Amino acid sequence: MPSLNQPNSHRPQKSFQPVLKLKNFLNRVKGNPVETDLSAYRKIVEEIKFHNLSQLPDGELRIMSKRLIDRISSGTLPEGLLVEAFALVREASRRTIGLKPYDCQMIASLATAQGKIAELPTGEGKTLAAVFTAYLHALSGRGVHILTFNDYLARRDAAWMGPIYEFLGLKVGCIQEGMSPPDKRAAYACDVTYSTAKEAGFDFLRDQICYKKEDMVHRPFHLALVDEADSILIDEARLPLVISGVGDRATWDASSLAALVKTLIPGKDYETDAEHRNVFLTDQGQERLEAGFGCGGLYNPQNHRLLEAVYCALHAEALLRRDIDYIVRTGKIEIVDEFTGRVVDNRHWPDGLQAAVEAKEGLARKSEGRVLGSITLQHFFRLYPKLCGMTATARPAADELKEFYGVAVVVVPPNKPSIRVDLQDAVFTHKDAKQRALLREICEVHARGRPILVGTASVKESEELAADLREAGIFCHVLNAKNDELEARIIAQAGMSGAVTISTNMAGRGTDIKLGGADEKERDRVVALSGLYVIGTNRHESLRIDQQLRGRAGRQGDPGSTRFFISLEDDLFGRYGLQEMFYKRHRLTPQLEALEQGTIHKEIEHAQRIIQGQNFDIRKSLWKYSSLVETQRKIIQEWRERVLDSEAPPELLFQKAPDLYAQGLARFGREKMAEMERRLTLYHIDRCWSDHLAWVTDTRESIHLVSLGGMTPLQEFLKSATSAFLEIKPKVEDAVVVAFESMVKREGPVDLDAEGMKGPSSTWTYLVNEDQFGWGIEMLKGSNIGFAGGAAAAYNGLLYVLTLLLNRFFGKKK
Ligand code: ADP
Ligand code: MG
Repeated sequence: MPSLNQPNSHRPQKSFQPVLKLKNFLNRVKGNPVETDLSAYRKIVEEIKFHNLSQLPDGELRIMSKRLIDRISSGTLPEGLLVEAFALVREASRRTIGLKPYDCQMIASLATAQGKIAELPTGEGKTLAAVFTAYLHALSGRGVHILTFNDYLARRDAAWMGPIYEFLGLKVGCIQEGMSPPDKRAAYACDVTYSTAKEAGFDFLRDQICYKKEDMVHRPFHLALVDEADSILIDEARLPLVISGVGDRATWDASSLAALVKTLIPGKDYETDAEHRNVFLTDQGQERLEAGFGCGGLYNPQNHRLLEAVYCALHAEALLRRDIDYIVRTGKIEIVDEFTGRVVDNRHWPDGLQAAVEAKEGLARKSEGRVLGSITLQHFFRLYPKLCGMTATARPAADELKEFYGVAVVVVPPNKPSIRVDLQDAVFTHKDAKQRALLREICEVHARGRPILVGTASVKESEELAADLREAGIFCHVLNAKNDELEARIIAQAGMSGAVTISTNMAGRGTDIKLGGADEKERDRVVALSGLYVIGTNRHESLRIDQQLRGRAGRQGDPGSTRFFISLEDDLFGRYGLQEMFYKRHRLTPQLEALEQGTIHKEIEHAQRIIQGQNFDIRKSLWKYSSLVETQRKIIQEWRERVLDSEAPPELLFQKAPDLYAQGLARFGREKMAEMERRLTLYHIDRCWSDHLAWVTDTRESIHLVSLGGMTPLQEFLKSATSAFLEIKPKVEDAVVVAFESMVKREGPVDLDAEGMKGPSSTWTYLVNEDQFGWGIEMLKGSNIGFAGGAAAAYNGLLYVLTLLLNRFFGKKK
C-alpha cells in the first residue's frame, strides 16, 4: 500500500493533526472510504491564506522556495512545510498564470498531498490544484509524476502550469509517445514530469530489459498524482501493458480454423451465455469440429492448444462484433474501447484472440513477436511509494479505490454550488421509439439555439445519429477522430449557441466547455437559454461513466441540464437478459411514447448497480490472477537488478561450475569474465521470463476450461504457475553454464554482441484488451474461492506464503 497512508510517513501540520487523525480514525471505524467533513482542511486553508506573500518581490519568493528545499534536505518532512509551500504556490500562480486559486482547489490539493483521491467537479480547476501537491513533494528532489489522460493533456498541462514551477525554481518536463530515450531521461530527471500513465508504464517495461543501467530512463519512483483518477486507476487499470520483441513463437493456423468455425450453427453447435460474454461448444459442435480436424477428443490433453485456439476462433466469431467492438481499417483490426466508444491506439487482444479476429476478417497475420515483459497499470501504480489523484467522479469508485490501492476519497464541493438539473430518463420500449424521440428533442431544443452535447456509446451510433440529424437539416460535429488536440478544440466550442456536438463517451476529456466560448455576450445568451444540454443515448454499465457525461454540463455554477434517452432494447439490457424481464413484469408492448411507469426507473437503476457490482467482482478476480504473475515479475526484476548492478561480483559460474570458472578466469581475466557472466545471465533471464509469460498467457486462456471439469481455475492456476516459475532459476543457470562452456572451449576471441547476447533489436509496446474471454465470469462461477471476506483473506494469506517461499528460493540477498 502507498506509504502515504502509513503512520508517520505523512504528518499534517502539527496543530491540525489531532483533528485529522480523529476524523480518519472514525472513518476507518465506520468502514467508510469517503470523507465529506472538510472542516480540518478549511482550517489549514485559512492558515495558508493568512500567510500573505503578495507584498514580497519575486526574488524574495524564490529565496523562500530555495530555503524550503534546504529544509527538506536537512530532514524536515514535506508535511512540516505544507502551509509555507502552499502559500508560495498560491502567490506564484497569481503572478505567473494569473489564476488566484479557490479554496476548493487548495482543499483538494491538501487531500492529495496526504495520499488521497480528491473529488472535485469538472471545470473547477484540477490542473492547478495538482501543482500544490506536486511542488510540495518535489521539494525533496525525487521526481513527482503527474499522470494525465492523454498525450495532449500532458503537453498542455506541462506548458500551462510550467511557469509556476519555474518561478519557484523547479524544473518541469513532459513525456510524449515516441520521444527519444535521451529526451525522456531528461524529462524524467525534472522535478515534476507530466506524462500519460501508459507511457510511464511502457518506459518502465523498457527499462526492465535494458542491458546497461545508463540506458534506463526512469529514476526510482516517488509519487504519482493521477488526473481523471477513476478512469485511469479503475477503467484503464486492468489492461496489461505489454512489451514485445522480434521473436519466434509459432501459432496455430488461424485461418483454416476460422473457416471451420464459420460453418458452425449458433444455438446448435455452440451457445452464448446471457451476458454475451462467453461462448460454449455443444456436444454436437464438439463432434463436428473433431470430425473436421480428425484430431480425436478435443478435450484430450494433447489437444490443449488446439482447444484454446478453437475457443479463440469461436469467441471472435460469436462475440466480437465488427464496427462495435472493433473496426477494420487499412488492413488492420482496431479495437474500440468499451468505455470511450472510440478506436484506441496501440491495443491488442491477447495473442490467440487477436490472431483469430484477424483470421475471421481474412487479414494477413503480422509478424509474430514474443512478449518480453508485461505489467497491468494497476500493479504499475503500486510501484509508486506514494499515490494520489483527482477526478470529478471518485465517490462511486470509492470502494474500488480502497480495495485496490488503499486510498481514501475526499469529496470537495465546487467553488459555486452546482445548479445543473438532471432530468429523469426518458425510457422507451424499443430502439426505434427512442431514436424518434431523440431526434425530435434535438430538433426542438436546437431550434431555440441552445447548445447540445450528445454522448453515445459507440462510433457507429455517433455516425448514425449524425446522418439522421443531417437529414433533418441540422449541422453537427462528430467527435470520433483520433486526434486529441483537434477534438479538444472542437469540444471547447460545444457551448456556443446553436452547436450540436456528438461525442462518444470520453472524447475531448479534460477540455473545458465554456458557455458561449470565450465571448461574454455570447455567454449571456447561452445562459438565458439555460446553458448546455447534455443528452446520453445509453446508460453505461457503470453509473460513474454516466456521471462523467452529465458533468459536462453546469460547470462552475453555470446553468445546464442532462437527460438520458434509453430503450429496453439497448445493449445494456439485452446483454443481461433484462429486456424480457421488464417486458414481463410490466406487461409491456412496444409503444412510441416514453414509459410512464414510475417503478421502471428505479428498477433500471437497480439493475445497473447489480451489473456494476458484478463487474467489480470480475475485476477483483482478474486482480488475483495478475497478482501472482506480478509477484513473480518482482522477484525476477530483483534478480535482474542484482546482475545488472556492476558493483555486485558475479557468482553464478563460480558456484555452479567451479572448474569452468577457473579455466575462464585464466583465459579471459577477471573483468571480461564478469562482463560475460553478466551478459549471459541477463540474456537467459529475459528469455526464460519471456517463455514463462507465454506459458502463463496460454494457461490463463485455457484455464477457465478446467472449471468445466469441476476444478477451481484459480487454485489450478496458482499451482501450475508456481511450479512453472520455480523452474526458471535452474533453467537460466543451466543455460548460462552451457553457453559459457562453448565459449571457453572455442578458439579465438569472444564477441558477445555477435553471439546475440544483447537486448532485442526492435521492440514495440501495446495494451492488451484482457477481459474479452469472460474469464472473470467463469471464475466467479467455477471457483469456490469466493469473495466473502474470509475466503479473500485466505487467498491473500496463500499468496503471501508463496511470495515468501519464492523469495527464499531466489535467494534475496541484501
Ligand atoms: P478540471 O480539470 O477540474 O475540469 P481545468 O483545470 O481544466 O478543470 O480548469 C477549468 C477552467 O477553470 C480553466 O479554464 C481554468 O482556466 C479555470 N480556472 C482554474 N482555476 C481557476 C481559478 N482559480 N480562477 C479562475 N479560473 C480558474
Ligand atoms: Mg482536468
